[in-house]
Amino acid sequence: MTAATCPACGAETTQPDSCDRCGYVRGERFRCPHCRAEARTETRVVDGTKVFVCAVCGGPRAPAGLGGEAAKAHAREARTHFRAATRAKVASFAFGAAALLVAAVATIAWPAAFAGKLVWLGVTLAPTLLALRSRLRVAPARARALATVKAMHLAAAKEAAEAAEAGATAKELSKRLGVTEPEAEALLVELSAADVGARIDVDDDAEVRFRLSTYDAEPSDAARVADPRDEQAALEAEDADDTDDAARREAAR
Ligand SMILES: [Zn+2]
Ligand SMILES: [Zn+2]
Repeated sequence: MTAATCPACGAETTQPDSCDRCGYVRGERFRCPHCRAEARTETRVVDGTKVFVCAVCGGPRAPAGLGGEAAKAHAREARTHFRAATRAKVASFAFGAAALLVAAVATIAWPAAFAGKLVWLGVTLAPTLLALRSRLRVAPARARALATVKAMHLAAAKEAAEAAEAGATAKELSKRLGVTEPEAEALLVELSAADVGARIDVDDDAEVRFRLSTYDAEPSDAARVADPRDEQAALEAEDADDTDDAARREAAR
């Protein structure tokens, strides 16, 4: 990570295109998939999960603008689910209020005879059931939204982890994404679990480094390059100068 100076507030930043101090952002990476504004994100906690939302439109966004098209697609899907949850909640309140109103009117209008009670029950039941039905739809919609948010965070973490040539630590990822270290670690563990070629090493500073298989084909690892399955990946790695440099450094050790 290279330090840069924020053009807006002059503070030293860890990212070249965003500032953690004043929220300045620049570039397509920060373009909101919902409102198309180049805008920073804010965080909100929904059912114990941290969700990054657009500071302009409030739609869910990927942390630090990472994760590419996959994360953008997840962001759109998550917004659909969040909206469904909100609609269901509003509907449940509206039907609930209607049920109360109908019950009150029916109580005044009909005498307390048995037939009157039946009428009371009949007219009150419909809005009550509708309120209940809407209420029951809130939690599943929100759960779907949060599952999608998690997929979006994984996509963002994947991009950040893949960019770390020596492998990513939970500490580095937490800074990059703006999440807590335990959250970053959980993301790295999940990415590694889904990636058969991932390596988890402890480095010289006793930090746990998660290396996704994207870096498995480094030319330094003779055995792996000899493996024909890795040949294509090795060729691609040769194209990237910085990957070569990293390999030389590793070979020199
Ligand atoms: Zn700034
Ligand atoms: Zn937006």
